[in-house]
Amino acid sequence: MFNQIQLPYAYDALEPHIDALTMETHYSKHHAAYTKNLNDAAQKAGVADKEITFLLSSLDNISDEALRKAIRNNGGGFYNHNLYFSTMSPDGGGQPVGLLKDELEKSFGSFPDFQNQLSGLAAGQFGSGWGWLSTNRDGKLILSASANQDNPLMEGNGFVPILGIDVWEHAYYLKYKNLRADYIKAFFNVIDWKAVASNYESVMKG
Ligand code: MN
Repeated sequence: MFNQIQLPYAYDALEPHIDALTMETHYSKHHAAYTKNLNDAAQKAGVADKEITFLLSSLDNISDEALRKAIRNNGGGFYNHNLYFSTMSPDGGGQPVGLLKDELEKSFGSFPDFQNQLSGLAAGQFGSGWGWLSTNRDGKLILSASANQDNPLMEGNGFVPILGIDVWEHAYYLKYKNLRADYIKAFFNVIDWKAVASNYESVMKG
């Protein structure tokens, strides 16, 4: 049984950056539907007891094509949104400290350089998808973007996402309409860098 994380803040807590109606619809409708559909498909495929990270990095093991597709889309949606909602906070924004800050600067030049590169990838993703910051067990950081509910786990190269920007229109259209770049800029005001740093450290500890 796969469960949505409990939101650690109210729907309106991320105002004015992310509006309450978007948060409520995103969590209680979109994320809830991905989660229900994942549970149904995983049950049918006999993989309901697996870890979601294992499932998404070994989709080829699911022989039934329709179930494999359902688990890719809905399992991705389940996992991606648990990550997304758990790395936002009303006390977010600013910059990380410590090891993650050092590695971001080493990898991308400076924090603003990192922000520009990730924002560019997320803004440039054609259609629905995500922008990602990922790491591997050696602590190497990479940026990428993916379509639909795909994520770096599915690429099977040992990279695990530690921060994701949802650029599906459902994540921003009510407030930002077609201005995806404005939403991405606002998203940086609610990033919980402590949560991202904690994700970073847990991947490295393996
Ligand atoms: Mn979404």
